[in-house]
Amino acid sequence: MRNIAIIGGGAAGFFAAITAKTEEPEAVVTIFERAGRVLAKVGVSGGGRCNLTNSFAEIADLKTAYPRGAQLMKRLFKTFDYRDVYKWFEDRGVKLVTQADECVFPRSQDSQSIIDCLTHTAQKAGVSVCLHHALTSISKVEDSEQLEVRFKDKAPRRFDKVIITTGGSPRAAGLEYLVHLGHKIEQPVPSLFTFNIKEKAFCNLMGTVVEHASLSIPATKFRSTGALLITHWGLSGPATLKLSSYAARYLAEQDYKAQVAVNWVNERNVQIVEEQLMALALKNPKKQVATLRPFDLPSRLWEYLLQRSGIAETKRWEELGKKSLHKLIEVLTNDMHTIAGKGSFREEFVTCGGVSLKSINPNTLESKVCSGLYFAGEVLDIDAITGGFNLQAAWTTGRIAGKK
Ligand SMILES: Cc1cc2nc3c(=O)[nH]c(=O)nc-3n(C[C@H](O)[C@H](O)[C@H](O)COP(=O)(O)OP(=O)(O)OC[C@H]3O[C@@H](n4cnc5c(N)ncnc54)[C@H](O)[C@@H]3O)c2cc1C
Repeated sequence: MRNIAIIGGGAAGFFAAITAKTEEPEAVVTIFERAGRVLAKVGVSGGGRCNLTNSFAEIADLKTAYPRGAQLMKRLFKTFDYRDVYKWFEDRGVKLVTQADECVFPRSQDSQSIIDCLTHTAQKAGVSVCLHHALTSISKVEDSEQLEVRFKDKAPRRFDKVIITTGGSPRAAGLEYLVHLGHKIEQPVPSLFTFNIKEKAFCNLMGTVVEHASLSIPATKFRSTGALLITHWGLSGPATLKLSSYAARYLAEQDYKAQVAVNWVNERNVQIVEEQLMALALKNPKKQVATLRPFDLPSRLWEYLLQRSGIAETKRWEELGKKSLHKLIEVLTNDMHTIAGKGSFREEFVTCGGVSLKSINPNTLESKVCSGLYFAGEVLDIDAITGGFNLQAAWTTGRIAGKK
């Protein structure tokens, strides 16, 4: 009778445990969770609604969703992808809805439906859960295929298979025991954060939303598009979170101090912007610039951008000289601000980095240096932008690691 341990009772851990017990009903499958309850992160995910996956309809290249791990996810999706996750939950009675933005939520709009489904399915399958078990280290038992797992303040235990699903952590120290076993660890750094912008006039625009904007970090390849939100501390919204994900490692290296260029109109072709402004000026020569907003920009933002362009609000469109027009185009399409730090609100925080994909077998997720040891979920060097992609990675990798 095989003895299987899953370390960490999160999304990946539950999927790994349920899969392992379903594939090997005679095996003893136990989830060991450090905390006093399981699935805490699923509970808070998606603002308590749990954005459990995505339709992937807007993802042409997986790299845009998974800045780390796209290649591996592509391979694993052949076995278990978003359609399988969707079906898995619906087959177990959780009705799902796909929003217009392609994000998938339980129809109840309550993450508890997902938690209940996972705990109930695990229990029914015969998976045991041991709370207050914090793994400290693992070693190979001499002259045996077994692994010995040590827990804080508990007696060590031996297993035939161990699946590590301890989630992300911005501290590499927690993964030291894996380094001792010979695994490579990609330095963990935060991803999915907002930007502090220390400019009073900018932050006074708090609450302003621009639906279609783009951001980039000058002299790098990092750019993102989407909605932008200005907050009292700086920049937030999907475009910001996406850029923080793409540039997670770069920004960490820069100590979160960098320039960010805002394209308020999400149009990189300045000629098109110029044509649109000229058309507006020709149609409304007598109107004051402040009263006629191009590109549907919110009025407070438009006033701010005029100020930044050095254009008086009372100026008429016909009075805009070439120089002012070009300055305005520059501000609309390449408005430079200074990132002064990382926002401290941990709204959608995930870890970039973790167990290197070079240390694992891409077909089974078994360690290349320690047989019988497997990995799934955010502990791996896989992370995604917001939209349900992170949980999808947890479900898929949990499923694969749990296989016989
Ligand atoms: C606020 C917030 C909202 C989010 N919303 C979404 C969303 O809507 N959609 C989405 O796709 N993603 C979302 N994410 C990301 C997503 O929740 C995670 O990527 C996902 O939960 C990772 O699953 P996991 O099982 O790998 O890790 P976790 O869910 O973090 O589970 C790891 C478990 O291991 C336990 N553990 C850790 N160390 C040990 C140890 N040494 N011994 C024993 N147990 C241990 C932890 O206590 C935890 O229970 C959100 C993240 C946050 C923080």
